[in-house]
Amino acid sequence: TETVSRPAGAQQVPLPLDVEAIRADFPILSRTVRDGKRLVYLDSGATSQKPTSVLDAERWFYENVNAAPHRGAHQLAEEATAAYEAARTTIGAFIGAPENEVVFTRNSTEAINLVAYALSNAATAKEPEFRRYAVGQGDEIVVTEMEHHANLLPWQQLCERTGATLRWLGLTDDGRLDLSDLATVVNERTKLVAVTQQSNILGTINPLGDIVARAREVGALVLVDGAQSVPHQRVDVTELGADFLVFSGHKMLGPTGVGVLWGRYDVLDALPPFLTGGSMIEVVRMEGSTFMPPPQRFEAGVPMTAQVIGLAAAVEYLQRLGMDQVQAHEEALTEYALAQLRAVPGVTVIGPPDTVARGGAISFTVEGIHPHDVGQVLDDLGIAVRVGHHCAWPVVRRYGVPATTRATFYVHTGYDDVDALVEGVREAQRFFG
Ligand code: PLP
Repeated sequence: TETVSRPAGAQQVPLPLDVEAIRADFPILSRTVRDGKRLVYLDSGATSQKPTSVLDAERWFYENVNAAPHRGAHQLAEEATAAYEAARTTIGAFIGAPENEVVFTRNSTEAINLVAYALSNAATAKEPEFRRYAVGQGDEIVVTEMEHHANLLPWQQLCERTGATLRWLGLTDDGRLDLSDLATVVNERTKLVAVTQQSNILGTINPLGDIVARAREVGALVLVDGAQSVPHQRVDVTELGADFLVFSGHKMLGPTGVGVLWGRYDVLDALPPFLTGGSMIEVVRMEGSTFMPPPQRFEAGVPMTAQVIGLAAAVEYLQRLGMDQVQAHEEALTEYALAQLRAVPGVTVIGPPDTVARGGAISFTVEGIHPHDVGQVLDDLGIAVRVGHHCAWPVVRRYGVPATTRATFYVHTGYDDVDALVEGVREAQRFFG
């Protein structure tokens, strides 16, 4: 058997987080896969695993206070409402936002669609106060070539509904945003700029300050896709300076079925609803209805209460670790993994080659082996990675590859996981070589 060779530059500096202690908090990490192999979970970018405290919080809700919040006057309804709203406060504080700017959705995808539909509904809103941000013919929406489909298709569709034009910022060869034409792409016709803070496929952390500043110059709104940043770095909406931030609970140790739309209150307040029905109304008459102020205006129907409470527990778990520590932990792992992978002949990393403004999503190709085959070999070894176009098809096209293999790290990831990955890639080369 071959020993793992450690190339120059691949230093195992002490990790900021206590990986063994953290692993003990995640029940799923004690199971085995593929005939007794340790689970090496390197797919947190797709969805993260859940610590016991999150599972307990959901169970606590159902066992003790289950009721529909904001409806009914009985004790359970009151307690469910209090727990739901307390979770809103906790989750808002995590991103530096007051609770009335926090809207719960199903995931990031729904949060982005909410904004896109609100902007097109604005054009036909009967209430003049809801027409302020209406998008129509002649207007432009700006995205980037590195967006996840969730932050691309809703804008393509918005343009098709309204006659607006979609424009985008391209990418450099080393996986960064090409801002050389920022001043022309974002111009007086731009109504909204939608950009990811951290790329799910390239790992790139984008210079949002420059983009927000340009958008402000031309009076455009800015939506930041935080699906891959909020779980992995400290994000404060005041520092961000944008109008919207979206993220998904399931990618940050929380349950599936809950996402967040943060919006600046004055902007949210000027938008018409996306979904309509119960819980979001002020007065309903057969002739027409009026709506609650935000955030309720955007939360039609009985909400995903247990999931929201689970997400608050996830936020508390991350806060106990410290987001700066979480980021430093992943940065150390990324630096190590990049050096290790670079030392394997035939491996090419698609994305920034170093850890400068880069998160822990590492996409790579292995010469002569299709990513699906790489993934298959890794899976046989108990290593879970993602293969394919990662819901960012234009990105793989831009770099001329059919797909990539992607490893993503989180709080329970250790050097042993990275070593397993690199050894697995070598195994794939031996197998297919
Ligand atoms: N944006 C980015 C950057 C993502 O990575 C993802 C999910 O992979 C999404 C948006 C969509 O998240 P969700 O599927 O939770 O709506």
